[in-house]
Amino acid sequence: MLNLKRKRSKMIELIQMMKTLDQAVARCSRCGMCQAVCPLYIVTKNESDVARGKLMLLDGLMRSFFEDPKGVLQRLDRCLLCGSCAANCPRGVNTLEIFLNARIIISGYSRMPLVKKIIFRYLLSNPELFDRIISWASKWQYLFFIKTEFQLDASCAALISPLLSKRRMVPLAPVPFHKISPKIDPALKPKLKPKLKPERRKTEKKSGLKVAFFVGCLLDKVFPKIATDIVRILNYHEISVFIPSSQGCCGIPALSSGDQVTFNRLVAHSLDQFDPSGFDYLVTGCATCTATIKKFWPSMYKPASEDQGAAVHRIAEKTYDINQFLVDVLGVKKSDKAEQNAARPIITYHDPCHLRKTLNVHSEPRLVIQANNAYSFKEMPDADTCCGMGGSFNLAHYGLSTDIGKKKVANIESTGAAVVATGCPACMIQLVDMLAREKKQIRVAHTIEIYSEKILSAIPSGAI
Ligand code: SF4
Ligand code: SF4
Repeated sequence: MLNLKRKRSKMIELIQMMKTLDQAVARCSRCGMCQAVCPLYIVTKNESDVARGKLMLLDGLMRSFFEDPKGVLQRLDRCLLCGSCAANCPRGVNTLEIFLNARIIISGYSRMPLVKKIIFRYLLSNPELFDRIISWASKWQYLFFIKTEFQLDASCAALISPLLSKRRMVPLAPVPFHKISPKIDPALKPKLKPKLKPERRKTEKKSGLKVAFFVGCLLDKVFPKIATDIVRILNYHEISVFIPSSQGCCGIPALSSGDQVTFNRLVAHSLDQFDPSGFDYLVTGCATCTATIKKFWPSMYKPASEDQGAAVHRIAEKTYDINQFLVDVLGVKKSDKAEQNAARPIITYHDPCHLRKTLNVHSEPRLVIQANNAYSFKEMPDADTCCGMGGSFNLAHYGLSTDIGKKKVANIESTGAAVVATGCPACMIQLVDMLAREKKQIRVAHTIEIYSEKILSAIPSGAI
């Protein structure tokens, strides 16, 4: 009896919290226009997979039409958080923020699974420990995976986790970026100046601009070459670069799993690392990190003080995707020598959802690619449809992720491309897996790698 009473009062509490989303949910007119663009609905034709269906479930829960918060959370988790619905909604329903807030509220009610809690609260929240564990994993990964000619083949990954089986993985880098990069800008941390090597003290470059580089987990631990290319490109353009020594995750994995506590800790950690008064711009090479810093830090972070709240907004204003920074700030242009030449390999571009739909960045990465006239650029059909990654969606719903990814492979292949470029390391991981599954020998590259090939070919590699 006591238990029933407690359950009931928890349910009432949950409904009260859900009511904070009432106005945002009520904006939905049920027009169904989100159906045509939802990559998940297109595959499943299941109404609870599309934004309209999810919003109706949330509405039903907050009006006590049914009492099944766990069931609603399961439906909410079947979502790539790609933002296609929000970008195409005639009523401007902010579906991503509604879904993220609902996940936080319902996860708080139903308690997070222990494994997730350990990963987020004890590993991801603690960047130094997380770095040590990944460094250990990078040394032992080949005991569990079979290396194939094309990509690291994860056919034995089930030994570690059934979630990873059958995947073609991009391996962890033997040395992460934070171990090979210049650690710090002495102008911002004067007390560390005496320890720095003389060549690292050159902070004032000709452009007069100072840029903070938010590296992000995937560029640091999986793609350090791309991060290195970014630093070298910035140096080439005479930009002073500031790279804090102990960066953490942007927080999106925790936020999308409904873990507000870890998200808050990670944003607070980043605020300690990046003082917005110390740089002109903050750049990232990861579409998801950029979208998180620009959109979700200001809207979802709960600051402990007014100063923290103001800092988050100032950082968001100064944050640019690297492609956008190169084009809009530095004036990088398409090469005017890019005449048609049949001998040049074809390159195509995949729009990461977080760049195209969340930030409306789409022409800039295409211009950055076309600054390198060694390739012939060709658009693929539906370049802006999701690749099927969706972060943890890929782990939890690999079959659906693959169904979505197969369409992307067909679109890439239809261009005859030798290379597919994109601006998001998570999309790169998905594209590598999907192309390898279909046995397509098409290279996956970051836009910055393509630009670097042109710009940096004459510069010695050690000169970052
Ligand atoms: S497009 Fe917008 S208003 Fe229409 S059903 Fe979807 S979320 Fe609702
Ligand atoms: S965010 Fe993407 S996957 Fe989720 S409901 Fe909207 S369109 Fe569908």
